[in-house]
Amino acid sequence: MYAVTNPATGETINTFESLTDDELQLEVELAAAEFAKWSARTRKDRAAIANRAADLFEERTEEFVTIMTREMGKLSDEARGEMGLVVSIFRYYADNAETLLADEEHDIEGGQITIRRRPTGVILGIMPWNFPVYQVARFVAPNLVLGNTLLLKHASNCPESALAIEQVLHDAGMPDGAYRNLFVSSSKVEQVIAHPAVQGVSLTGSEAAGRSVATLAGKHLKKVVLELGGSDPLIVLDSDDIQQTAQDVVEARYSNAGQACNAPKRIIVLDDLYDDLVAAAIEATKNFKLGDPADSETTLAPLSSRDAAEEVAEQIKQAVADGATLHTGGDLVDDETAFMTPAVLTDVNKDSAAYRDEIFGPVSLFFRVKDVDEAIKLANDTKYGLGSSVFSTDRERAREVGAQIDAGMTYVNQAGGSQADMPFGGVKSSGIGRELGPLGIDEFANKMTIRH
Ligand code: NDP
Repeated sequence: MYAVTNPATGETINTFESLTDDELQLEVELAAAEFAKWSARTRKDRAAIANRAADLFEERTEEFVTIMTREMGKLSDEARGEMGLVVSIFRYYADNAETLLADEEHDIEGGQITIRRRPTGVILGIMPWNFPVYQVARFVAPNLVLGNTLLLKHASNCPESALAIEQVLHDAGMPDGAYRNLFVSSSKVEQVIAHPAVQGVSLTGSEAAGRSVATLAGKHLKKVVLELGGSDPLIVLDSDDIQQTAQDVVEARYSNAGQACNAPKRIIVLDDLYDDLVAAAIEATKNFKLGDPADSETTLAPLSSRDAAEEVAEQIKQAVADGATLHTGGDLVDDETAFMTPAVLTDVNKDSAAYRDEIFGPVSLFFRVKDVDEAIKLANDTKYGLGSSVFSTDRERAREVGAQIDAGMTYVNQAGGSQADMPFGGVKSSGIGRELGPLGIDEFANKMTIRH
């Protein structure tokens, strides 16, 4: 069932019925029937629609801010930041449609080839609640411009975001059949994936959901893009301002209440600055102010739900039982809401679940290492491989250390982040494929070879 439950109060405000099997079938048929018309429209035409969508997302920013704040507890300033990113993604694909989708000409032995990017059909998006508009934008904007028709199964706790997004896209000029919001439980996605017109599925979410969807996609031979969890390392090699570095690190970790796939979740610090940096990070952590996410004074939001907060509190308790030191935080503030005080853990035992698993909440883990080699080894000692960061006053050295981390992305002196023109995605259990930038528009394109 789709429901809005405000994590800052625990109150359920709104509920929505899910589609029956027959209704779902009709939705898929509608998207399938639209594909021929939609894909035949000119690229310029579709880019103009993407541009209008950007305008409307911009105009309706405050409406989305209100929705996100009550649906999953996002701080209103963070929600505004998310909307800015959404607008830039639609603009990027609108402005660059012609260049990104232009034919490529190559000389080959005995002749020439043209590589032409063509749309493939209906694509299903399965998206999470943590960035309820941005995650959808990454999926929709490139595929809109390319000419695929789209079905969206959003997370069951953000139905109002899902409806407001659909409204923007239809108001911008996407025909009804080119974009359909589906209120369906995850157990129904096979019905969609199995349909012959559906050519691919893009999921952002947990590793478990990724495995399940990839299994179905394999069974029905459909392409997947998976953007799953991460346990991103952030290595601090040296710093000329430890207070600032500590502040940067915890702000990145606690942004979105610690619920970002590419937040720095394991902070790896060289021995000579470890004590000072951890002390500064503990102090900075204590300064975060929990409160109403709509209040501009609040600096730390509740988690997305009571269940999510209880799970993170349990992970912290287990880490401590396994030998970790909890320096501050980790408390649920009452019995109903999803507020949790931000936590700092050190001495996390290698055999502990906290060492292996992603912790999706405001929890910083610090690790002491003797040198760069040990830092890289520890950074790579994970099944995940989404992002990574290296901080140093020597940018060149940081870049070379970052390039040795087994991850889809590495950032110098910056703790993660995302922008429209930069490909985003991971390796290992963090996923398959890329979103955003030039690579993001290629995933569901038929890169057709024309030999001539
Ligand atoms: P889920 O992966 O369960 O949810 C994400 C989306 O996938 C939702 O739309 C969900 O639908 C859907 N989904 C879940 N299971 C399946 C399935 N078997 N088949 C098809 N669709 C499915 O994330 P949670 O909300 O449960 O969060 C759990 C963990 O996932 C987090 O702790 C974090 O580790 C990770 N996560 C990572 C994100 C990222 O950005 N990479 C984003 C969100 C979560 P429904 O809501 O109906 O269950």
